[in-house]
Amino acid sequence: AVSFFWFRRDLRLEDNVGLFYALQSEYPVIPLFIFDDSILDSLPKDDARVGLIYDSLLQINKELQSIGSSILIKKGKTQEVWQTIVDEFEVKKVFFNKDYEPYAMDRDDCICQLLEQHAILSYSFKDQVIFEEKEITKADGLPYTVYTPYKNKWLEQFAKIKPLQEYNTTQSFSNFYKSNFDFPALEQIGFVESKIKVKPYTLDGLANYQEQRDFPAVDATSYLSPHLRFGTVSIRKMVAFADKTNATFLSELIWREFFMQILYHFPKVVTQNFKSAYDGIQWRNNEEDFKRWCEGRTGYPMVDAGMRQLNETGYMHNRVRMVVASFLCKHLLIQWQWGEAYFAQKLLDYELSANVGNWQWAAGTGCDAAPYFRVFNPDIQLKKFDEKGIYIRKWIPEFDLGYGEPMVDHAMARDRAIATYKAGILT
Ligand code: FAD
Repeated sequence: AVSFFWFRRDLRLEDNVGLFYALQSEYPVIPLFIFDDSILDSLPKDDARVGLIYDSLLQINKELQSIGSSILIKKGKTQEVWQTIVDEFEVKKVFFNKDYEPYAMDRDDCICQLLEQHAILSYSFKDQVIFEEKEITKADGLPYTVYTPYKNKWLEQFAKIKPLQEYNTTQSFSNFYKSNFDFPALEQIGFVESKIKVKPYTLDGLANYQEQRDFPAVDATSYLSPHLRFGTVSIRKMVAFADKTNATFLSELIWREFFMQILYHFPKVVTQNFKSAYDGIQWRNNEEDFKRWCEGRTGYPMVDAGMRQLNETGYMHNRVRMVVASFLCKHLLIQWQWGEAYFAQKLLDYELSANVGNWQWAAGTGCDAAPYFRVFNPDIQLKKFDEKGIYIRKWIPEFDLGYGEPMVDHAMARDRAIATYKAGILT
C-alpha cells in the first residue's frame, strides 16, 4: 500500500505543504508528475516552459535518487493516467497542493471523484499563496475588488500569522517509496530543448528596488515570476524575506495574490471584461496592426524593444509590459484578449490570474483599472524610464541608424481612443 504526492505547480521538495503532509502519512510516498496532454498538445515543440518543468523535475529526481527513491513521470490525459495508476498500485491516499485556475479546479474535482470511486482518500492543501479563496474578504464577506483595501486587510491578517510555519520535509525523507522509475528524455515527452532559458531569481539586488524597479535597463527586480509560477521556490519564504527587508517588494507579492483571488471569485475575467459596462467598445481589431505589434515593428522604440525582448527571452520588464499593453488597447484599439493570448504563448512566467488581471488593468476594463482616458505616451515613457536609450538599444540594434516612422500618430490615436471608449462605455 502506498500514498501518492502529485506535483503540479509546486516543483520543489523543500517547504512544500502537501508533500510535508504526504510524508506524515502511514504509507510510503510515491512522488508523481503528469505531463498533461490537454495542455501540451497546444504548445510548440520547443516551448521553454516545458523545458523549465523538465529541468526542475530532473533536479527533484536527483535529490530523490540520493535517498534511494525517484519520481514517477507519466504522460497522457490526466484522468486516464490516474486510472492506470490506481490499477497498477495499491493506492491508499493521494496528496496535492491546490491550484485555483478554473481548468485546474475542474480537473481536480474529476480526479477526486475517480479516487473516491476506488475508496482512495484525497487531501489538498494551500501552498502557492499566503491567503486563498475567502480568507481575505470585506466585513460583509464579499471579495475585495480594489487593491489598496485588499492589501491593508492582507497585512492585518498576515501580522496575526507571523512567523510563517516552515514545512520541513527533509526530516521525513525516509518515507519516500524506494524506487528507481525510468526518467524519460525530453524527446520522449514530444519536446525538444528550447533556446530560451529561465533566468535564476535573485534577492540580492533589491536594496534599491523601490527607486529602480521601473527602469528596464537596470537589473533591479527579482526575476522571481517563473519560479513562483512553477513553484520552484516557496512563496512563504519569499514573503518572509520581503516582510523583513522591503515593503514595496512585499506589496508586489500581494498584487499577485490580489489577482489570484479575483480570478477565484470572478472566473469570467479569463475571457470577459470585469466591468461589463465596457462591453460595447467598438474595437478596430486590425490584424495587420496586431502583427506589427507582435513583431515589434510599431515604430515606437519603447514598444518595439519590449516586444522583441519578449520574443527573444520569454520575459519583459514590468514597466514595458504596461506600455505595450496600453499601446495595443488604446493606440491600436485592439481588444485586450488578443494581447493576453500573445503574452500567454510567449511569457515564461505566464500566470493566468496575473496576465488577465494586468491586461484588463491596462485596457481599463478590469477591477481597480487604469482610467480609460489615461493613454500612455510611449515616447514620454521612454524619456522617463530609459532616458539614455540603453534598454532600447539592447533590443533594437538598428536604432542608431535612424528609426522608422511610428505606425500611428500619438495625438490622433489618443483622441481616437478616448472618443471610442466614451462612445462604447455603457452608463
Ligand atoms: P518583481 O518586480 O521582482 O516582482 C516580484 C513578484 O511580484 C513577481 O515575480 C510577481 O510574482 C509579483 N508581481 C509583481 N508585479 C505584479 C503584478 N503587476 N501583478 C501580479 N503580480 C506581480 N506577472 C506574472 O507573473 N505573470 C504574467 O503572466 C504577467 N503578465 C503581465 C501582463 C501585463 C500586461 C503586465 C503589465 C504585467 C504582467 N505581469 C505578469 C506582472 C509583472 O510584469 C511581472 O510579475 C514582473 O515583471 C515579473 O518580474 P520580476 O519577478 O522580476 O518582478
